[in-house]
Amino acid sequence: YLMYKEKTSVQWKDLDASYHLHPFTDFHEYETSKGRIIEKSEHIYIFDTDGRKYLDAMSGLWCCSLGYSQPKIGDAVINQFKQLPYYNNFFQCSNAPAVELAERLVNIAPKQFKRVFFTNSGSEANDTNIRLIRRYWDLKKQPNKRFIIARKNAYHGSTIAAASLGGFDAVHKQFETLPYTSHIVEPNWYTEGGDQSADDFGLNAARELEKQIDELGEENVAAFIAEPIQGAGGVIVPPATYWPEVQRILNERDILFVSDEVICGFGRTGSLFGCETYQTEPDLITFAKAVTNGFQPLGGVLVSNKITEVITKDGGEFGHGFTYSGHPIACAAALATLDLIEGQNFVTRVAEDVGPYLQSKWKELEDHPIVGHVRGIGMLGSIELVRDKNTRERLESDQKSGGICREFCIKNNLIMRAVGDSMIISPPFVCSHGDIDLLIERAKKSLDQTAAYYSV
Ligand code: PLP
Repeated sequence: YLMYKEKTSVQWKDLDASYHLHPFTDFHEYETSKGRIIEKSEHIYIFDTDGRKYLDAMSGLWCCSLGYSQPKIGDAVINQFKQLPYYNNFFQCSNAPAVELAERLVNIAPKQFKRVFFTNSGSEANDTNIRLIRRYWDLKKQPNKRFIIARKNAYHGSTIAAASLGGFDAVHKQFETLPYTSHIVEPNWYTEGGDQSADDFGLNAARELEKQIDELGEENVAAFIAEPIQGAGGVIVPPATYWPEVQRILNERDILFVSDEVICGFGRTGSLFGCETYQTEPDLITFAKAVTNGFQPLGGVLVSNKITEVITKDGGEFGHGFTYSGHPIACAAALATLDLIEGQNFVTRVAEDVGPYLQSKWKELEDHPIVGHVRGIGMLGSIELVRDKNTRERLESDQKSGGICREFCIKNNLIMRAVGDSMIISPPFVCSHGDIDLLIERAKKSLDQTAAYYSV
């Protein structure tokens, strides 16, 4: 049975606007604009209280990679609830799902990884990274190594520490960021590359890391954190030259590297982890979201041998942890999710079937008059909206065109996300080719309507 009382769609919306403060939402605007109340889901579709059915090309918030109809995860949650609904992992205690999940994650991660620290979210995992990085350098007797270099328009979460690592100016304006973070250019050739070829820009963007380390002094730099592909920043697929050059720089400098795989992890780029797609060698991996298919809140950090050896030796107590670190129900959901990913070969499906099919269809959008640039890999994609393909002139001066296009997508029963002047997708791996065709058909229609709105 459901724990809430039936209401009309209008009642839900009024109550929501009256009582509920939503994440990343203009509170004032929401009081009058009202939202959509999502009441059920199936496969890759969500249904609202107005009776509309949307194709969800964002997998929720990048998390429901296996779609919404995965009853085995629900069974795991219910069974674990009956066995042990909660116990903490403080004070020399543990629980079976947390132990098994830690072992399993280490076994499927790149070979340098040896341990796992659990959190409830990607944000908390990145906070944990900052703590681990600090402990590592303190124990190595290099306490001056404090700076963490990140990238502009990166998203690493919403706690103060994670948002400080993130590179959104609009977010930074609303609070004081941690003083030991610094940001270099994001590898977005289309917006930042000017007249350079994509390959040249990729090299130069990577070398910004080298310059920044030198400017701050290698002895003061603790780590570099980056998503293999910047997701919330606009699905920024870097030029092919970027990651090899970053790895070259990391090999030459004594700093740690965090691969934030909250979006790219668990198959989205066609490998289990994005760092495997780009052949980088991180010391820490941040994970969350798809680890439970989004059905339970769970995140964490995979810790490499290099760091494990230092922090597990004479470090004293690690002064950090969460009530729900290694929550048995969340860990059971993750174990069931991994069973599905492995048992149904979802990573191969992304690499060899639905990924290439989505990319070939997505690329067709390049012919559309208001699409200036198409990016994508695996089950990720983005398009940049322009008025003029040659000059890259935008449809509007204030980055509003994505929001306009998004409204048309919603009218056409398609959930695509807008980031400034780009539209992004991250569809579930369970999509059939027919689902992808429908996604593209609705995207094209929405682009046509956006073009007409701007009289292009
Ligand atoms: N890191 C990346 C790359 C993300 O995309 C996100 C969320 O979208 C986070 C961290 C934060 O995760 P959470 O929202 O679970 O705190």
